[in-house]
Amino acid sequence: MIGLERILTWLRVLASVFAQAKDELTELDAAIGDADHGINLDRGFSAVAAGLAANPPADVSAALKAAAMTLMRTVGGAAGPLYGTFFLRASASCAGLERLSPADWVTAFCQGAEGVRQRGKAEPGEKTMLDALLPAGQAMSEALQEGAGPAEILGRGERAAEAGMKATVPMRARKGRASYLGERSVGHQDPGATSAYLLIRAAASTLA
Ligand code: ADP
Ligand code: MG
Repeated sequence: MIGLERILTWLRVLASVFAQAKDELTELDAAIGDADHGINLDRGFSAVAAGLAANPPADVSAALKAAAMTLMRTVGGAAGPLYGTFFLRASASCAGLERLSPADWVTAFCQGAEGVRQRGKAEPGEKTMLDALLPAGQAMSEALQEGAGPAEILGRGERAAEAGMKATVPMRARKGRASYLGERSVGHQDPGATSAYLLIRAAASTLA
């Protein structure tokens, strides 16, 4: 079961994950965007950690909602509203739950990913963060159906996200700033799919 403390640990770990990945993500975005993705996420998740410390949330849903609001306010660009939507939908899915069962977690994650799909109007294969988020949700749902335990569910989500991230390299971008490059977007890993993988990898290492 995943309680408030675990979720807070995940969100705090994300602040250090994105501080460390700032340059890598910015370099990826320099190749097919405007070189701000790492800066955006570092700013956003450090604000999330600071906000949670200043105003401790009462439960899992409140923690995820606070993260969503802070990301929408501080990240900017395409990723701010999209990751904000991810956490907001996940928060709504957890409303009233004291602790998350593996099934609650998978549902919250998949609802968050579905929110990103609706908000950004992108589909898999268009070289976006969805190419990591949706396969991760799918893999975790399958693991859950097969009766896997929490560590196995999260581990399979992490591996699917990694494969999805790598699969963005040969894709041509169809959404967002990278789509302006057309064919020249081919051959580069998508920055948002990379940050989504990092988000799931951190979940696998903190929530299981
Ligand atoms: P911006 O492109 O406004 O500078 P960021 O650099 O922070 O914003 O984020 C870029 C990432 O956002 C892309 O790598 C891509 O994964 C993601 N993205 C852009 N548009 C969409 C969309 N419509 N749906 C899903 N993800 C998107
Ligand atoms: Mg950018």
